[in-house]
Amino acid sequence: MASHRDADREDRPGAGPWEELAPGVVRCRLPGWDATAGAVRGKAGVLVVDTGSGVAEGAEIREGLHRLFGLPVTHAALTHSHFDHVFGTASFEGAHVYGAQGLGGYLADAREELRQDAVRHGMAADVAAEAAERLVPPGHGVSEQLTMVPGEREVRLVNMGPAHSAFDLAVVVGGRDGGPPIVFCGDLVEESGEPQAGPDASPARWPAALDRLLALGGEDALYVPGHGAVVGAGFVRAQREALAERFGLSST
Ligand SMILES: [Zn+2]
Repeated sequence: MASHRDADREDRPGAGPWEELAPGVVRCRLPGWDATAGAVRGKAGVLVVDTGSGVAEGAEIREGLHRLFGLPVTHAALTHSHFDHVFGTASFEGAHVYGAQGLGGYLADAREELRQDAVRHGMAADVAAEAAERLVPPGHGVSEQLTMVPGEREVRLVNMGPAHSAFDLAVVVGGRDGGPPIVFCGDLVEESGEPQAGPDASPARWPAALDRLLALGGEDALYVPGHGAVVGAGFVRAQREALAERFGLSST
């Protein structure tokens, strides 16, 4: 997650604007902590990638996507456990919720921990309390990879193992008509600030997770960080080197 609330963004109304990355694939940078929410249009519904930092924000994301695509959100993929990525899930009632294997069990017991973390990062106490109370643990765990074809693009949910958090998941959206793949990285990649490594991070595994991310997306992919602007493979590679150096790991 971002290290602190970005005061400049505090007054920005609602979730949006939505940035089109490819036909049927969008993302938006949410106010507050600059977390990313992404989405992929399917034939009958939308897959949302991360759900925002609160119940009201989740509802804004849902409504924004309905305006954009005219479809309900039927699937949600959570990239990891941090409050700014999962606290809006309750607003997607009826959606199938996916996370890395183990995230469901972890979140079911982590309400108080996430509530405190959110308040520590500047969230209003009542907003944090409601979100923690209504937190929805994913009902579907991804142990390795799960491929779905919700519409014109193949979507792979990939368990990245522990790295930024104990349960990291990447969402790899296939390219089409010569367009590049799009990789929703969660906080394995951050552009708007230094990647945050909290007590649940596994620094020793993080550089290898980024190697894997690069292998999944390839050289031409658009990499969508958990926080910040969309980047290319070169940025991810540089962040991998910086993390290896920061954590005292030998570089390949
Ligand atoms: Zn995070």
